This record gives sequence, C-alpha cells and structure tokens, in this order.
Amino acid sequence: MTRKRVLSGMRPTGGLHLGHLVGALENWASMQAEYETYYCIVDWHALTTDYADTSRLKEYTLEVAVDWLCAGLDPDRSALFIQSHVPEHAELHVLLSMVVPLPWLERVPTYKEQMEQIADKDLYTFGFLGYPVLQTADILMYKAEVVPVGADQQAHVELTREIARRFNNLYGPVFPEPQTKLTPTPKLPGTDGRKMSKSYNNTINLSDDEPQIREKLRTMMTDPARKRRTDPGNPDICPVFDLHKVFSDVKSRAWATEGCQTAGIGCIDCKGALADHLVARMKPFLEKRKELESSPDKIWEILEKGAEKARKVARETMKEVRSAVKLP
Ligand code: SF4
Repeated sequence: MTRKRVLSGMRPTGGLHLGHLVGALENWASMQAEYETYYCIVDWHALTTDYADTSRLKEYTLEVAVDWLCAGLDPDRSALFIQSHVPEHAELHVLLSMVVPLPWLERVPTYKEQMEQIADKDLYTFGFLGYPVLQTADILMYKAEVVPVGADQQAHVELTREIARRFNNLYGPVFPEPQTKLTPTPKLPGTDGRKMSKSYNNTINLSDDEPQIREKLRTMMTDPARKRRTDPGNPDICPVFDLHKVFSDVKSRAWATEGCQTAGIGCIDCKGALADHLVARMKPFLEKRKELESSPDKIWEILEKGAEKARKVARETMKEVRSAVKLP
C-alpha cells in the first residue's frame, strides 16, 4: 500500500527552541511511521525576508539540521533536504506565479502583518509577496496530501488548494488538493511570559545545556501577583506552570498546584522541579548533539541523500507539469 505523502518545512534562521519541538518537530517525528515524509529546510524562504544578509545562511542550515536529527527526524525514513538543492521548486514557482491572481497574495493575512511587524527590513519585494506561491510549489511538487501546520498557517494551505484548483482547471488534473493536519500546539510561553519566539529573545533553545536551562528558568516570569514567598499564587496565570503542563509529570504538577495555591512552596522550588524534568527530557538531545556536531560532513551527506530522494519525485512531477502546460 502506498503511503500518503507529507511535506513540511522550516526556515534556516538559527537554532530551534522548545516551541519548535512541541509545536512541530514531535509531530513530524511521529508522522514518520505512517506517512512518506519530506521535510525541507527552506533556504529560499529565508531569503524572502533576510536577503540583505546571507552571511550565516549555511551555518543556520546546519543548526536546523542538527536540531531536526536530535528531535528524532530519521534520515532513513524521511527525506531531509535543503530546498535550493532541488531547483525544480523554483521552476514550479515560476509556472504557478503565472496563474496566481495578485489579490490572492495581497490578502494573505501574514503578508500585511509581517510588513508591519518587520519594520527594520524592506519587504516591498516581489519575492516577499510571492512567498506563498513558493510554499505552494514546495507542497505541490510532492503531491503532498497532508500538510502538518499550526493554526496560523492554515490560510496558506487554503491558498495552496486554491492555486492547485486553478492550475488543474487551466491545464488538467495534475495536483491533488492537500489537506491540513492541524498540529495541536500547547501554550508555550517564553521566559518573559510572551509566546516563545526568537524575535522576543525569550527562548529556551534545543541546544541549551543544563546550566543554561536552569538559569533561564530561574529568572523566568511567574504569577505577577505573587510578590513574596508567603503570598499564595495562581498557577493558571503563571507561565512557569504552562511549561510544567508540557514537561512535568502529573505528580509534580499536583505538587506545584497545591504548593503554589497555599504558599507551601516558593517559586524557586517550583522552577527547580520544572528544571529537573526539562533537563531529563533534553539529556538525550544534548548527547546526540555532541555526536552530530563532531561530524558535520555526515550531516551534509544526510541532506544530500535527502535531496536526491526529493529530486526523483520532483523530476517526475515537473515532467507532468511541463507536458500539461504544453511547454515546447
Ligand atoms: S509557585 Fe510555581 S506556579 Fe506558582 S507562581 Fe511560582 S512559579 Fe508560578
């Protein structure tokens, strides 16, 4: 029986953090058993916002690959590859861009949002407006039937479906319309209580060692009303407790809840218990990381092997696409 294909990608903008782990990578790793999985480091997408400084692109790509491997993405089961190593993505992007009406791109919610938020970069570029078309090319290239995404990315997959429909109407049925597989994303605040994000500088990274994890948790924001050790607190509004919910066991969570509400424990005790769980969880990552970082050549080989597998599918798709478009 042929397995359904899955495609997802991440931008190489530096090392990954716990938000990536629980929001995507754990899900990607578990999908390897059931699906034919293609996971792509989307370096061209990184250029849509970071075109002016590409000096660290290679380094970031390697960091993402290491994080993926540490998180359980398995090169024997998944094609792990770099987008620009499969140039067919660019060719499909060009062909799709011919049929995509401009207003479809202008109304993508993240387009305006990012324009406003990323004020320090000039994003009035053709590449930035067109990045959902590139994303569509990434997905359709593998005729992926399933795209695992967070709720904020749903609009992009919907656009992919619309573009696939338009292409198929014009040139014949080439592409399936992919389905969204919503990744259940637990609330994962960063150390300042806001959403964990590199741009807020509040992350706990997958590469952090034990002292770094403990120090970041030690200074993490708590229930702001709990000013003194003798004040009872409310775990429901405490970002530290949100992390307990993800990384601690039932017994520790019950202990923290009771101790917080009765002022039986201090925040330092509570954070120490969380740190113990998190450090235990990250220990295998750190061991694997040491092994991987000592042999970067092996990682580039893994990415090349993944690109070879991806290119085989991409060549077949592009043969079909060129013939459908009746290119001479
Ligand atoms: S005891 Fe724990 S849950 Fe309560 S406020 Fe302190 S860190 Fe938060």
